[in-house]
Amino acid sequence: MIPYGRHHIDESDIAAVSDLLRGGMLTQGPMVEAFEQAICDYTGARFAVAVSSATAGLHLAAVAAGVGPGTSLVTSPITFVASSNAALYANGRPLFADIDPATINLSPQRLEEILALHPETRAVVPVHFGGLPCDMPAIKAVADKAGAHVIEDGAHALGGRYLDGSRIGNNSNADMTVFSFHPVKAIAAGEGGIVTTNDEALYRRLIRLRSHGINKLDDPFELPEQAFTDGAQNPWYHEMQELGYHYRITDIQCALALSQLKKLDSFIARRRQLAIDYDADFAGFENLRPAQPPEGRDLSGHHLYVVRIDFDKIGKTRGAVMLELRERGIGSQVHYIPVPAQPVYRRLQMRPEDYPNAMEYYHQALTIPLFYDLSDEQRQSVVGALRDVVG
Ligand SMILES: *Cc1c(COP(=O)(O)O)cnc(C)c1O
Repeated sequence: MIPYGRHHIDESDIAAVSDLLRGGMLTQGPMVEAFEQAICDYTGARFAVAVSSATAGLHLAAVAAGVGPGTSLVTSPITFVASSNAALYANGRPLFADIDPATINLSPQRLEEILALHPETRAVVPVHFGGLPCDMPAIKAVADKAGAHVIEDGAHALGGRYLDGSRIGNNSNADMTVFSFHPVKAIAAGEGGIVTTNDEALYRRLIRLRSHGINKLDDPFELPEQAFTDGAQNPWYHEMQELGYHYRITDIQCALALSQLKKLDSFIARRRQLAIDYDADFAGFENLRPAQPPEGRDLSGHHLYVVRIDFDKIGKTRGAVMLELRERGIGSQVHYIPVPAQPVYRRLQMRPEDYPNAMEYYHQALTIPLFYDLSDEQRQSVVGALRDVVG
């Protein structure tokens, strides 16, 4: 069975984790900072805060952006539920702006309309869907006008580039960017995430929130009379300054992630080549087309390869197509059910039909296999199976 996505682990990854287990600290040791520094070097961001998952990172970023009771966070309806759940965790209100059907990314125009109706918005969360960069200058301009922070959900996009060619995660048009190290994503840590930022105040807040709200850096103490004796800091003293979380990542995970990061560019290069080859393979198909534009192939992080199939026209349901592919040894998936269609969001009075581009895309979308170890023969068998099943 060929899955839609899979990680790649080699002997150097195994050695990196073994070495850590033989001699290193398991958590709160130097590997976490080494990984954070490596992500700064790679993306060009000033600061990075590694956390237990991208979901945790999105939650912390939402809190740091000021999302809380009486405020809103706007994201894309075509994303993993974690992007908007960040608003719910922070006791804010999640809102959605429809996608641009050409890119499957948040539409800056729809965003502007939603922000005009919701001046209480504190954060905008564009998602680089499939790794394809959003139009960040346009999104940043609209968010600035509304006084909202920009938090990029880069879970699909580590290793990708913006339209100007610089690396996703450098925050040139954002306040914070969040990446994921779940095994289906660009590099694997088992579980893990990171938040990058260029803003020192946000960085300090994220560090504190990651560890229970306890002051970890050299921020001033609120109770100096408790902290100091005769001008010297009491060695036991620490100060919980707000309610934070336990969202730390371990050194074991960071040892793996650091080893994987060395291979990221070769991972992306292979995924890009496969995407370009799929584009060519599907050129002659009548009822199936790539969901995202070929012009984006140079920039994308290539997390997903999604095709749009006109299921009504071929007279088969998507479920039937998925089963027929499965019988031929091909895994497939749907990314994503529009978040406003989920029961929790419907209970919040969301109406999926308010996002017609997202719904139209959803009815046609199918994710097919794309990962580093997918061979050309396997790619051809995916294409052959789709030709049989979809025509
Ligand atoms: C995977 C994913 C997340 C969550 O990542 P975790 O590290 O599993 O928490 C968030 N947003 C998007 C778009 C994702 O694909």
